[in-house]
Amino acid sequence: MPLLEFSEKGIFCPAAGVHIDPWRPVERALITHGHADHSRWGHRSYLCTESAKPVIRHRLGDVNIQTTKYGRRIDINGVNFSFHPAGHILGSAQIRVEHKGEIWVVSGDYKLEDDGLSEAFEPVRCHTFITESTFGLPIYRWKKQEEVFGEINAWWRSNKAEGKVSILAAYALGKAQRLLRGLDRSIGPVFAHGSIESTNQVIRKQGIVLPKTERASAKTLRRDYIGAMVIAPPSALRHPWMRKFPPAAIGIASGWMAGDGARRRAAGQGFALSDHADWDGLNEAVTATGAERIIVTHGYTGAFRKYLEEVRGLEAFEATTQFAGEEPPEFN
Ligand SMILES: [Zn+2]
Ligand SMILES: [Zn+2]
Repeated sequence: MPLLEFSEKGIFCPAAGVHIDPWRPVERALITHGHADHSRWGHRSYLCTESAKPVIRHRLGDVNIQTTKYGRRIDINGVNFSFHPAGHILGSAQIRVEHKGEIWVVSGDYKLEDDGLSEAFEPVRCHTFITESTFGLPIYRWKKQEEVFGEINAWWRSNKAEGKVSILAAYALGKAQRLLRGLDRSIGPVFAHGSIESTNQVIRKQGIVLPKTERASAKTLRRDYIGAMVIAPPSALRHPWMRKFPPAAIGIASGWMAGDGARRRAAGQGFALSDHADWDGLNEAVTATGAERIIVTHGYTGAFRKYLEEVRGLEAFEATTQFAGEEPPEFN
């Protein structure tokens, strides 16, 4: 019996009777992080890190959530579990599972670059590593985040000079807060779409300092937006919400803005900023675990599995999950 298996409900540990990031309702769920595809509604109990809890509570309401600290060992039916920083969003974890000397790690989503907001990624040694592969193609290689923030600020400055508002699309949880910290506040005021501002407030309440933002509300005057920056979720760009703005320049901050010219043109100005590991990051993480067996989940599973096997000589498999990864934004 393998330590972890892929069941129709999620990643299951038969020896402990618990699931990791299950996509169907289960008794006991261990949750890597608060994004909707990993932290779903309907489980009888949830276990996550302390810093992941507020956002999960905010999203799922009155559910039974227990928390743990990073690195603390938890015994469930003789199986040892612990959570380790994944560097993806605030509170995100890789989950380590140890039983009778055998160690598996479930990565959840992760990135290696320290964004100053998420607890920085820590590689965990294991025999079997279950890794995401959202950007598991060699065309996905990120620039340093400082460089991308430099491009975003230069774009904002030139939009302001043209009397335009800058509207930058980013995921409400993780990316949006990371952007807030990278923006040059001397350029102008920053507004946030309601769904992002509610997330900001949850995060501020847990003691994380985020630069000041104003809610882009019905009361905000059109002229107040001129020269300002507005952070909005990608879905808002196709919504009548957009009509309240003066002439606008549209941008999108997403890993998908690397390596795909057509999508980049459709989206307006693209900035390749991702909360997932790029090609080099995935490979580096695999090396750092020392694992001889890799199971590749959501993303370019086929391509990455093939590379691990044929080029790197590792034992590699693909597994089907219902994790969405960083969904490509649509703008047409
Ligand atoms: Zn995620
Ligand atoms: Zn994911």
